[in-house]
Amino acid sequence: MNGHAEHLLGHPTRVDGITAEYIALESHYVAHTYHPLPVVLCEGRGAWVSDVDGHEYLDCLAGYSALNFGHAHPALVAAAKEQLDRLTLTSRAFHHDLLGEFARDLAHLAGMDAVLPMNSGTEAVETALKLARAWGYRRKGIPPDKATIIVMHGNFHGRTIGIVGFSDDPLVRTDFGPYPPGFRAVPFGDAEALAAAIDEQTAGVLLEPIQGEAGVIIPPRGYLQAVRELCTRHHVLFIADEIQSGLGRTGRTLAVDHEGVKPDVLILGKALGGGILPVSAVLANWDVMGVLQPGEHGSTFGGNALACAVGLAVVRLLETGEFQDRATVLGRRLARGLAELRDEGLTDIRARGLWAGIDVDPALGTGRDLCEALLTHRVLAKDTHGRTVRLSPPLVVDAADIDFLLDGLRAALGDLRAARR
Ligand SMILES: *Cc1c(COP(=O)(O)O)cnc(C)c1O
Repeated sequence: MNGHAEHLLGHPTRVDGITAEYIALESHYVAHTYHPLPVVLCEGRGAWVSDVDGHEYLDCLAGYSALNFGHAHPALVAAAKEQLDRLTLTSRAFHHDLLGEFARDLAHLAGMDAVLPMNSGTEAVETALKLARAWGYRRKGIPPDKATIIVMHGNFHGRTIGIVGFSDDPLVRTDFGPYPPGFRAVPFGDAEALAAAIDEQTAGVLLEPIQGEAGVIIPPRGYLQAVRELCTRHHVLFIADEIQSGLGRTGRTLAVDHEGVKPDVLILGKALGGGILPVSAVLANWDVMGVLQPGEHGSTFGGNALACAVGLAVVRLLETGEFQDRATVLGRRLARGLAELRDEGLTDIRARGLWAGIDVDPALGTGRDLCEALLTHRVLAKDTHGRTVRLSPPLVVDAADIDFLLDGLRAALGDLRAARR
């Protein structure tokens, strides 16, 4: 939605002057749990950000989908500013005048009865797991401490000890054990393997309808429906983690909408906070949500007034359907353009809405190499699992931005090829 593409002059130099100073400072005082690209951002508007040296970039990561509505969306910033002057936090010890409204409108948007508000995505996933276990004991009658949750190979649900315990990514889990028991992993996209793993002690099946960190892995058509049928037949909760896939990213409000299925427990996060603050939520109908009683779960900040004001503004944006439509239409343009680049050094392309995972031919380099090359063409993106680059521009991009991304990608692949020669 803005025409920066035409105004870009010259190429940013890699780590120069002030950028190098900022990076050195950060590296001196901040734990080394990330390996950021060498760019220091200080401003963002819509799909574009600028760095401390004055260069502009198209943001094609969008905070891992936390920025679905772009940087500084006017309606979201206005909602936050207005609320900042009114009331920000009460704790749940008291009521405040926005929580009910936020929960009602979010529940309506998602087609669920009730909302349990949290902050980070990880917390919401932990919350959903507690809810599913409690449901398993209190409704399904699973013997004490015997409940299991089935998860998927390649999953990413966050970073707590409980969650990394059932990850199969060694980088994420090694040396953080011992881990809580009660989880069992099956291959993603394989309904038969899931059917074989379900037994009387299964309380829930937890999955990402499209696996994000794994590299935008889209399951075979019909898989989510099969999961829904298995869960219904065996009286097991279908828990959908839509923290990254939800809220317009795939062209629908939820990724499960593509198969017309409704999970029993829905987890939202990232874009729910409008890129302004962490807001997450677990949603379910009352037959499930009703198992939790006062005192059994909570969070000091969960459902705070500022979060509700921003979350409400996010729901308002999604109610229009505009962003879902943009993701669909521009997603087609992105997918078409990516398909044309296949022979330039991509070995696989997976896309749904404005969300794509592209695999770089190992002969050309790694995903990180491609991201560094993209940076010099003013496109910000992030690699995942070695050879994959995830593209998830804000849903406020326009057609010219998509073309800018595609041109940058073509040029970056060209750079990688030239470097090999
Ligand atoms: C990002 C993400 C999480 C974790 O969310 P945080 O806000 O980083 O704690 C969980 N599940 C999925 C699918 C995610 O993409």
